[in-house]
Amino acid sequence: MQTLRDLSALRSAVDALKSDGKPLALVPTMGALHDGHMALVEEARRHGRHVAVSIFVNPKQFGPNEDLDAYPRREAKDAQMLQSAGVDILWAPTVEVMYPGGFATNVSVTGISDGLDGAARPGHFDGVATVVTKLFNQVRPDVAIFGEKDYQQLAVIRRFVADLDLPIEIVGLPTQRAEDGLALSSRNAYLTEEERKAALALPRALGEAKRQIEKGEPVEGALAKAIASLAAHGFDPIDYVTLCDAATLEPMAVLNRPARLLGAAKLGTTRLIDNIAVDPA
Ligand code: AMP
Repeated sequence: MQTLRDLSALRSAVDALKSDGKPLALVPTMGALHDGHMALVEEARRHGRHVAVSIFVNPKQFGPNEDLDAYPRREAKDAQMLQSAGVDILWAPTVEVMYPGGFATNVSVTGISDGLDGAARPGHFDGVATVVTKLFNQVRPDVAIFGEKDYQQLAVIRRFVADLDLPIEIVGLPTQRAEDGLALSSRNAYLTEEERKAALALPRALGEAKRQIEKGEPVEGALAKAIASLAAHGFDPIDYVTLCDAATLEPMAVLNRPARLLGAAKLGTTRLIDNIAVDPA
């Protein structure tokens, strides 16, 4: 595996890798890798693809009072994991390489970015869309793999890839969970032992609301119960627990088409998100 930090070296390595005609898959990450990330890498390797993984903690997707400085950084261990998984290129640019002086461009996706995390974290999806567009231009993958854990992010990326005619196949993979059901996340490392136990209330509340809604109970009541359960387990604030159209993410008051139930809330200083499919009978 080659670890690369400057753009000309990356371009040469990608040219060399692509010369055999096999497709190149990219897995963008912010590092502090866990089994969720590694499932994306495994998927990237399918069909004999070459694999590039990026690690870049993107300042543009963090708000002024968010955890940019505290975000876990563990590149040496990450590199070992990626090397063992047979990754060809680790692209780990510095902030200066990604955003050199004078950088002034913003990729902004309207509509699908506006609600949920877009409302709770103003500017977040502009930061995501801008950096992912740059990563696509830098690495030039044929395929890019993302997790459904960040469901709205995946929808935003699908939107701008279609809108900008980018010749990249976007693959979404189901959320990988710990044995007890908590979605794996680099941010779980922030949780105290007690918070880690309480965190389970998030997937449980979403699962319970899903069952109620799929049984035909009113959506509003099921969401209210989920919010009450999160509050009882110490989540505060609760940014949202919302049923949305699975494709457009428009809020739904009645389950009449494929939907997604999404939740985001803070436990202590850690903001957790999760989501689950909800299907009409
Ligand atoms: P991050 O490093 O948190 O920015 O995540 C990088 C990629 O890994 C994104 O596409 C995430 O959706 C994906 N990812 C993070 N956690 C999980 C998980 N538990 N299961 C599946 N994919 C995940």
